[in-house]
Amino acid sequence: MPTTKKPAVKKPAAKTAVKNPAAQKTAAAKKPVAPNKAAKPTAKKPAGPIQVEAIDAHPEFDLFTYCELSGETRIEHDLLEELEPRFDGWAEKYLRAYKITDPAAPGDGGHLLIWLEEPVEDEIEGVWQDSPSAGMSFHNLAIHMVMSAAQNVVPELADKGCAPLPKPTAGILKAFEKLGLVWNKEGTVNRQFAVFTRMPYSDGCGICMLRPKCPNASDD
Ligand code: SF4
Repeated sequence: MPTTKKPAVKKPAAKTAVKNPAAQKTAAAKKPVAPNKAAKPTAKKPAGPIQVEAIDAHPEFDLFTYCELSGETRIEHDLLEELEPRFDGWAEKYLRAYKITDPAAPGDGGHLLIWLEEPVEDEIEGVWQDSPSAGMSFHNLAIHMVMSAAQNVVPELADKGCAPLPKPTAGILKAFEKLGLVWNKEGTVNRQFAVFTRMPYSDGCGICMLRPKCPNASDD
């Protein structure tokens, strides 16, 4: 769990579509419609099984992007010497990347899920206890890693600078559970460093759960 020293995790509100059943009822009452005997009920196409596939994602440490993310113009040499080996070590041991496809979801139903496992959070917490500024540097490194990994798989995310967060389907939530992740309705999972977005890229801010509170939201 983040402490008060760390940047607050965004708690986005879910976007919901509200229909108006009362209005539909009134319209129907004005003009009764005779049942159409010739009409056959439309058969619902079976959605098919959810597919979960481990994929390779290759994050790259980019000093410029890291500095931008950290709000710094330069990085001390000593810190850089600590960051780079950690980046490689985390990528090798703790980075997880999956493509989850739910045929019932929009488009071709593909989604990307990337996260860093709990030992990374523990390591950052340990560093934080000794030095909050070093802890913040590693915290930013973990964010840089999951974003870089996501951009490696979905290159359009690099232009956007963020990842649109779709609302997962019921099937995708079950896939999360099987992978050991718990989804919170605010739009987070029980891992501190994670990215969930559509794959391939589609619809931008229009499908993003963060949109209602996002200052960078656009009409794309
Ligand atoms: S609303 Fe748009 S800019 Fe904001 S986080 Fe979502 S995709 Fe990014």
